[in-house]
Amino acid sequence: MTLSAARLATCPAAAMSVEFYVAGICPARNSRPGQLPAASACELMKANRTAFIHGPQIEQYSYPPECAFSTSRGPRARKMLASMGLLSGAGRGEVAPVPADRGELLTFHVEAYLDALAKAPQGFLDIEGLFMGLGTPETPIFHGMYEYAALAAGATLTGAKLLLAGEADIAFNPSGGFHHAQAACASGFCYINDIVIACEHLAAAGKRVFLVDIDAHHGDGVQGAFYDRRDVMTLSFHESGKTLFPGTGFEDEIGQGQGEGYSANVPLPAGTYDEAYLRAFKAVAPPLISAFDPDLIVLEAGMDCLAGDPLTHMSLTNNAYAEAVRLVRDIGKPLLVTGGGGYHVQNSARGYALVWVVLCGEDDHSADMSLGLGGVMMETADWAGGLRDRQLVTTAAQQAEVAPAVEETVEKVRKNVFGYHGL
Ligand SMILES: [Zn+2]
Repeated sequence: MTLSAARLATCPAAAMSVEFYVAGICPARNSRPGQLPAASACELMKANRTAFIHGPQIEQYSYPPECAFSTSRGPRARKMLASMGLLSGAGRGEVAPVPADRGELLTFHVEAYLDALAKAPQGFLDIEGLFMGLGTPETPIFHGMYEYAALAAGATLTGAKLLLAGEADIAFNPSGGFHHAQAACASGFCYINDIVIACEHLAAAGKRVFLVDIDAHHGDGVQGAFYDRRDVMTLSFHESGKTLFPGTGFEDEIGQGQGEGYSANVPLPAGTYDEAYLRAFKAVAPPLISAFDPDLIVLEAGMDCLAGDPLTHMSLTNNAYAEAVRLVRDIGKPLLVTGGGGYHVQNSARGYALVWVVLCGEDDHSADMSLGLGGVMMETADWAGGLRDRQLVTTAAQQAEVAPAVEETVEKVRKNVFGYHGL
């Protein structure tokens, strides 16, 4: 699809990518040819430009059916949002991802690993490939795995580039968030670490980046990549490594060398519920982000903290995710958000749809406008109340077990990390 140069020139944002323009980010798309858009419309666009990174090509790939990781969550979230009229409109729209090229993948991964990843589906898997983590139940070999991983990483990178170019304020790739992948090793359903590649791209442009990871699993691959650096600070909230893969992410992992004090971890007990989670999140994330004062924020929003996730033991509802995302959004920095884990497919997809609504600046009332649109339209019988989960009741026993452990963790993080940032 192309637009005439003349029509592009009618919008002051003509420097935008054509896809971005066509997708609906620019309200001026409603202008008649030759007619200048109303100044107020483009002012609005400048005030809130939020990009949903997705394209039909991302729907071509899937992990083997026996694997818990579903590539359908992003597409399902998109479908929900489109059916509710929440995907595009003033100040928001969809942008097609560009696959990451070899050079971009090499900013983190090593050549031999990328070769092994590309060749494995053709039946070329040697002992080296096995040592690189390929061919396990969590990192299976499947047709198109290299192409999928490069596309998913490219989608996150596309978001980073939009932010860098000033073409969007917020970008969301629900098909990203592969935070376990190592430079030469696949791990935990992750082959290409899109987060590291995006952060490297931003850092190479001279930007200081703060990464917040709210996946149920510790973001070990990302932490490892930046452990001795202070231009990219990482903060991960996750179920404790005592009860969950990858078994890392404790309070005393704070970075090393130049990076000492620039990695932070908030391991939470199994059974952590919304209120306790948000208490920890509010106590740690906003103060550290404000003190670090990044140019951009990256948020890995894995949905596997949701109660009922088959692989984890957390008890959040998506209301906690909505609040955490709102708190990060309200800091007001350019924001790159990715998906991540989430193994209850429908709950995760609904969670991502809610994340998008929050990123678009809809307040709680607006989000509740979706009430009554659930059920059939949501293609689930789980919950017919719109995008938000029902509140979960916590027992006194659960509170007695979780709350003190969370408090203790927060205190340790304050003691171990806050001093490096004048807090
Ligand atoms: Zn996870």
